[in-house]
Amino acid sequence: MSITDITDNQLIATTMATCPKCMGFLTENHKCPGGVWTRVSKAVLTVLIGGGVGTMAVYALEERPVSALVLASAALGAVLATAVRQAVGGRP
Ligand SMILES: [Zn+2]
Repeated sequence: MSITDITDNQLIATTMATCPKCMGFLTENHKCPGGVWTRVSKAVLTVLIGGGVGTMAVYALEERPVSALVLASAALGAVLATAVRQAVGGRP
């Protein structure tokens, strides 16, 4: 073992670690990107996932759901996902 080995291991460990908030690589001077676009994109992603889950739930319950029901469930899923995200993550 030499100092170089330890440094390499630390570098690998640091490179592999990711931030739980922004999923970015945790470097020594890591800062979460708190830009408005990050928050907007996360909100959009939450809505899309919630809508997708709501849509899948309808198709799981009904073989041929009417489009109005699909839309309503997608909207409900999106709203629920947003509410859950805010409840879990709190205000950024
Ligand atoms: Zn971060």
